[in-house]
Amino acid sequence: MALTGVSSRRVAVVMAILVPVVAGQIVVLVHRGLQNDVTVTTMVGLDLLGAAFSWRASRTGLHRRAWQFTAVGRGLSAVADIGLAAAGPRTFWWWITAAAAVLTFVLLALATVTFPAVHLTSRQQWALAGETVAVLGCGFMFVWDFAVQPHIAAGASWSTALTWIGFPIGDLLLLTGISVYLLRGGVRESSPPTWLLIAGMGGYLLADAGFNAIGDDGNYATGPLPATMTFVAALSAMTIAAVLETSRTDRPSQAATPTGVPLSPWLAYFPYAAVGAGLVLMITTTITGGELRTSGGLVLGLVVMAAGVAIRQLVSLRDSRQYQLTDNLTGLSNRAGLQHALDRALRRGEHVAVMAVDLDGFKSVNDTYGHSAGDVVLMEFAHLLRACVRAGDTAARVGGDEFLVLLRHLTQPEDAAQIADRLQSAAHARPVRLGTDTIAHRCSIGVATDAPGDTGDTVVRHADMAMYHAKRAGTHGVAVYHPDMIDRRRDDTTLSNDLEDAVASGQLRVLFQPMIDLVTGRPVGAEALVRWHHPTRGLVSPLDFIPVAERTGAITGIGRYVLEQACREVHAWQQPQPATPHRLYASVNLSPRQLQDSTLVADVLDVLNHTGLDPHDLVLEITESAIIDERVAIPTLENLRSHGVRIAVDDFGTGYSSLHYLTRLPVDILKIDRSFVAELDGTSHGSAITEAVIRLSQVLHLSTVAEGVETPEQAAELAMLGCDTGQGYLFAKPMTATDAAAFIHNRSTAATIPEPAADRPDTTPST
Ligand code: C2E
Ligand code: CA
Ligand code: CA
Repeated sequence: MALTGVSSRRVAVVMAILVPVVAGQIVVLVHRGLQNDVTVTTMVGLDLLGAAFSWRASRTGLHRRAWQFTAVGRGLSAVADIGLAAAGPRTFWWWITAAAAVLTFVLLALATVTFPAVHLTSRQQWALAGETVAVLGCGFMFVWDFAVQPHIAAGASWSTALTWIGFPIGDLLLLTGISVYLLRGGVRESSPPTWLLIAGMGGYLLADAGFNAIGDDGNYATGPLPATMTFVAALSAMTIAAVLETSRTDRPSQAATPTGVPLSPWLAYFPYAAVGAGLVLMITTTITGGELRTSGGLVLGLVVMAAGVAIRQLVSLRDSRQYQLTDNLTGLSNRAGLQHALDRALRRGEHVAVMAVDLDGFKSVNDTYGHSAGDVVLMEFAHLLRACVRAGDTAARVGGDEFLVLLRHLTQPEDAAQIADRLQSAAHARPVRLGTDTIAHRCSIGVATDAPGDTGDTVVRHADMAMYHAKRAGTHGVAVYHPDMIDRRRDDTTLSNDLEDAVASGQLRVLFQPMIDLVTGRPVGAEALVRWHHPTRGLVSPLDFIPVAERTGAITGIGRYVLEQACREVHAWQQPQPATPHRLYASVNLSPRQLQDSTLVADVLDVLNHTGLDPHDLVLEITESAIIDERVAIPTLENLRSHGVRIAVDDFGTGYSSLHYLTRLPVDILKIDRSFVAELDGTSHGSAITEAVIRLSQVLHLSTVAEGVETPEQAAELAMLGCDTGQGYLFAKPMTATDAAAFIHNRSTAATIPEPAADRPDTTPST
């Protein structure tokens, strides 16, 4: 982390501390005889400066208590340095300063535990206390066995015991403090000055433990050079930490401290390692002390008991970790679990892909069938998801109906997309039964793979962005993240705000694209296609704003407006030629949300009524994906048909289970998607799907409209295959009502299929 806000004055102070310290150590290296004087002087100087700066740091706000303890500890340390060096060993003043030195450890340990790390709940505090006691107990066994017991055995006086016992216990306390700090996830939470201070304390502990191990009585001015140097380095780090803390301006807010401690797993095993070490020590001393016969049974019993309890504990530790990382409803991972797995995979340098999956229309399942049915859908989907991924992958539910899947060892986005496709087909092959109804799982999927330097969050964000693209397209499809992909969410939010008054302020226009009888060449109807003339963006495509309007609900107003315009215009076109043998019909697109609307039938009848259009001259186009809930959709469509309104399936063949739906849906017309028309090339291969759709519609007594007819060859082939009607740039682009009226009037008399119309102008203002 950059030390933003460290003034150049502070840098000067740090240099003023470091330069003499380093110079002093060089002098010691050259003249070993000066080691005592130089070390003592350096340490006293560093401690005094450290005490002063720590005190100032404690005044400036954050972590007050911790820096206060540090300041007093450093002050005592300075006193101890002077006293231990100046007073003769085992004199009265020597004892006083030795006590001060031991107290230094106590204060530094207190400082470590008062640094606010991750906020703990009271239960977690108890757990932490238990773990700390286990570590402390183990440490005590070692201190007892190596430092205390030998001196009791040797009959040492209580006064000598202070140094032999006091320092190891001081070390033990500091060790505990640092452990508590780490166990609470302090590293993650800390600023550079804090961890520099803690690192300094760690060095201090290390050097002192070294001294104790070699049997020195705490007079570090005369110890071995590496140990004294470690002391000097540790004190320098602690002093500089205080200097930096006094000038820090990038203070994190206290409120940002998160709750809960998802510790790294190895830290959680730390207390059990301590128990193990204690037991090993106990067994060894029982054997080496020749007490196997007297207390062997007791020791064995204790070991077995402790092992049993430890195993039980480890199992619940794993359980609770599992619990923390699992979604209760589905048994998949939750967000934390996924993040954990993702971070681990990225840390290991694996290539990963993340799949963001969002169920489509889940809200309406919940609304119609109730929440327990919603839960069933989620559980079934989770089951599918688990079946589609490999053993090492992680599937997680991260929101109501949002899922994330981590796919490991994947480099090609295409591989991930393939898995996504597999999931789509599996989901589709296994609809959920709710009572007498079946509901197909439909979802939008986004896929992203990691790029060099990506964090887990980045990959998830990219997958989510891709998912949003898929969702927007409304096709229950799969989108693969691409760096050029822009985050449409924000854009959509502004669009949706602007959309609110688009209808009211007359920014919407309806264009008409004539539909032509492929045999006679006469216009039979026109599809209404909406345009938005945005005041600042210019012309916005329906592909961009219909999905937004769908989500915000603005589609209701837009849909009604388009319906009204279409009915009015087409009714007007019918008037001049009441004697025309065929009557023009208006074809109007209906979005999924409109189909769910309980007032749809009444609204349509109302519009027909006041525009005067005959219900038989209205076709409503729905896409297969619009049927989110059959229980609502089918009766609605049947109701409309009973009044004479016809139903067309738009973009037929691009969705799932076309056949499945066709037999159940009350429909009259199939609109062959333009992607199939584009494949027509005079060969049987090119016409395969189109021909199949036409045959199917013949069997089911439906009529067919081919979309996107662009060439006379396509028109001829379609006519030959038996398709009734064509629509496309060959005949006309979408045009204003006036142009469409003129076009229809002309073409109703002249009835031939036109030559290629490459330069036919689109009367859409800016297309
Ligand atoms: P759609 O219903 O499939 O409409 C046909 C689209 O294909 C129209 O695009 C039309 O301009 C375009 N098209 C027509 N002939 C040709 C051709 O020969 N070649 C090619 N390449 N394209 C052709 P448009 O107007 O941009 O509409 C896009 C989609 O927006 C529509 O697809 C429809 O799903 C939706 N939409 C348009 N107006 C409305 C509306 O009023 N309500 C609702 N709910 N959706 C609408
Ligand atoms: Ca359409
Ligand atoms: Ca279409």
